[in-house]
Amino acid sequence: MDFAKYLKEYPNEEGKFGSYGGAYLPEQLVPAMKDIEQAYLTICHSSQFVNELRRIRKEFQGRPTPVYHCERLSRMIGNCQIYLKREDLNHSGAHKLNHCMGEGLLAKFMGKKRIIAETGAGQHGVALATAAAFFGLECTIYMGEVDIAKQAPNVARMKVLGAEVVPVSRGLKTLKEAVDAAFEDYLENYKETIYCIGSAVGPHPFPMMVRDFQMVVGVEAREQFQEMMGFLPDVVTACVGGGSNSIGMFIPFLNDPVEIVGVEPTGRSTKMGDHAASMTYGSEGVMHGFNSIMLKDEKGEPAPVYSIASGLDYPSVGPEHAFLHDVGRVKYDVASDEEAVDAFFKLSRYEGIIPALESSHAVAYAMRRAKEMGEGSILVNLSGRGDKDLDYVIEKYGYGEKYKDFK
Ligand SMILES: *Cc1c(COP(=O)(O)O)cnc(C)c1O
Repeated sequence: MDFAKYLKEYPNEEGKFGSYGGAYLPEQLVPAMKDIEQAYLTICHSSQFVNELRRIRKEFQGRPTPVYHCERLSRMIGNCQIYLKREDLNHSGAHKLNHCMGEGLLAKFMGKKRIIAETGAGQHGVALATAAAFFGLECTIYMGEVDIAKQAPNVARMKVLGAEVVPVSRGLKTLKEAVDAAFEDYLENYKETIYCIGSAVGPHPFPMMVRDFQMVVGVEAREQFQEMMGFLPDVVTACVGGGSNSIGMFIPFLNDPVEIVGVEPTGRSTKMGDHAASMTYGSEGVMHGFNSIMLKDEKGEPAPVYSIASGLDYPSVGPEHAFLHDVGRVKYDVASDEEAVDAFFKLSRYEGIIPALESSHAVAYAMRRAKEMGEGSILVNLSGRGDKDLDYVIEKYGYGEKYKDFK
């Protein structure tokens, strides 16, 4: 396949990447999604929108984020060199703000008053509340009561930022019920509201828009690495939950002689319910308004999922990933909880960077690959910082005593 023209061809007019993607929606939402698509396709070519987004990225988010060479970590493993794209230094501590600021600016241009979303661990909620404060939009975040109890610091952040956090008390009181509640709100209020999806998933045009907004990561990283080294990395990698930080990192390298690898979580084990490696163990199906690869239970419903990194436990994956997997351009590999925690402590101890547990999966894979490769270079998207994970990690694993003796 020739990837030079890729962005012109994918997705097609129906929002499809091959057979994946599309928009499977209740009838009343079809015009609302069409409106968003039309507005986006017009606006993304307007110099006013592009310039405003560029200014926001520079002055508010602190972009470009740097590319960093992990000299000590690389030396410990051997001769292969590991580099990080530092999305942990993006304002609010992760890549998610890249698409939330894009979605907020779109809402503003469309004359909407309000943005809403669901959140699980609260990361997407915090990023969206940040965007809402910046643009002066109302913001409602739906969150299961169980998650609210577990994620007090993120709930506090959202409230301080001015968002309304609505506790969802039905069913298991977690992410799935929060999605249902946010969806019901959207069905009633779509005229003045945009439902901002938290990853490169959901009905068209969201996988496309989120990809476009996240591509700043890969575009910057490719240019920075090339400038630093005079060549491109051998391997580019990122963790895959819904697939937003990874798709943004990967697309700008599609047409290069670079191996691209997405890393999924195998959690506690590869038994159903113990992991969230959708691409590795899933099959084709429709959920949350789009067709992709998903993990299903015996009844064909979305399977229960688990990962130590709550941002990765989603039972499906963005449709573009399913397509790039099928055509053989992107490979998908896995890392377990244990490997992620090992990488979490090693990056902290050897480089002074505490990574998010999500990002630690990609670091773990890079460390494993570096050992196998023996030479060359690997560029990892460090999607976020790990402050949010400290309490949990310390309680379960202590302070990483076994990594103290590094020379
Ligand atoms: C949410 C999150 C992820 C997973 O989401 P993707 O859409 O797959 O990128 C990864 N890393 C961090 C730090 C996150 O907050």
